[in-house]
Amino acid sequence: MKKTNVAVLGSTGSIGRNAVKVLKMFPERFHVTGLAGRSSVSLLAEQANELRPDKTVTTDPAQFGALRAKVDAELKCAAGDEQLVELATAPETDIVLCAIVGTAGLEPVLAALRAGKRVALASKEVLVMAGELVRAELARSPQSELLPVDSEHSAIFQCLAGRDKAELRHLLLTASGGAFRDWTRTEMEHATLQDALAHPTWNMGPKVTIDSASLMNKALEMVEARYLFDVAPEQIKVLLHPQSIIHSMVELCDGSLIAQLSRPDMRFAIQYALAWPERLPGNLPELDFASRLQLDLQQPEPGKYPALEFAYEAMRRGGTLPAVMNAANEIAVEQFRRGRIRFTGIWKIVERTMAAHTVQPQSDLVTLRNADAWAREFAAALPEHP
Ligand code: MG
Repeated sequence: MKKTNVAVLGSTGSIGRNAVKVLKMFPERFHVTGLAGRSSVSLLAEQANELRPDKTVTTDPAQFGALRAKVDAELKCAAGDEQLVELATAPETDIVLCAIVGTAGLEPVLAALRAGKRVALASKEVLVMAGELVRAELARSPQSELLPVDSEHSAIFQCLAGRDKAELRHLLLTASGGAFRDWTRTEMEHATLQDALAHPTWNMGPKVTIDSASLMNKALEMVEARYLFDVAPEQIKVLLHPQSIIHSMVELCDGSLIAQLSRPDMRFAIQYALAWPERLPGNLPELDFASRLQLDLQQPEPGKYPALEFAYEAMRRGGTLPAVMNAANEIAVEQFRRGRIRFTGIWKIVERTMAAHTVQPQSDLVTLRNADAWAREFAAALPEHP
C-alpha cells in the first residue's frame, strides 16, 4: 500500500506534538514530507531525526544555524516563512496538517487548497479570519478537501458523515467552561493569570487555555463551524459540558441527537483527519466505565459569557468582523498575560474593538490583513484597566 505523505506545519506546538505521536505510531501508513516550526529548534530537530522528513523548516531565518547543527547531516533543512507555502504545495505532499498558532497559517492553507491537497486544519484562526476565502478556494479546486482537527469540529464532522445536510437542525458545540466554569462573573473580575491557566480537562498552550476560560475559544469555534459546515449562525448552539467527553453533537430535524464521545485526547481528531474515511485500529485510550461515567450538559447562563454574543454578531455581519474579533482577542489576552488588564477586561477590549470597526466584505487577503492590523492597533491603544 502506498504511504500517505503528510506535511506538518507547526509540529512543535501542542497539536503538532500530538500529530508527531500519531505519525510515529503508524510508520507503515504515513511518510512525512515536511516538518515546520519556529523557535523550538531543539524539539524540531529531535522530531526530524526520528521521523526523517524530506525537509525540516524553521520559519525564523535566525534559527537556521541552530537547526542545521542539530538535524542529522543527510536530512534537508530550510528557513523562512515562504517555506511554509512550499511545504504545503510540494507535489509529493498529500495532506497538509496546519497547526500553526495564529494567522501565519492563512497563506499556506489557501495555497494547499489551490494545489488540490487535503488540509487537516487545527489553526482555527484560518477559518475565523478568512472563512469566505477558504470556502471559495475549496469550491474552485474540486480535488481539495478541508478536514477539521479541532475536537469539536471533528466530532460534528463524524456525526454528519453520510447525512443529508437538509436533515440538520443544530450543531451543538460543547465547551468545558475552562478554569472559571464554577466562578461567578464577580469572582472572575479578580481572577489571576495562574487561575486562568489551570484548565480542568485539556492540557494546551497558554493562549488557548485563557481563551477556554473566557469562552473566546468557543466564540472562535462557532465561527469556524459556520464556515466549515456552511450553516447559518442561528443553527449553532453552545452547551457547557465540564467532563469534555462528548466532543460535540448534531441535532437532526426529527429532534434526535448524535454525539461523538472519547477521552479528551487530541490524537483522536488528528488521526481521523489523516486517515479519513478510514479509521486506524485501536491505539488510543478507551473510556473507562469501571467507575460511574457522569456527563453533564447545560446551556451557559445567559449574559455570563459575552464571548458567545461576540461570535453571533461576527457571524451575522461576516466580512472582516470575525478577523477583528480574533485580532482584538489576541491583543487582549497578551495584555492580560502581562498583568495590564483584568481577566474580564479581555471581553471589554474585544467588544470595544468590534463596535468601532467598519465592516468590509472579505474580498481578498490584503483586506483581511488590514482589518487584522487595524484591530490590533486599536485594541492595544485602548486605556489600560478598562
Ligand atoms: Mg476545540
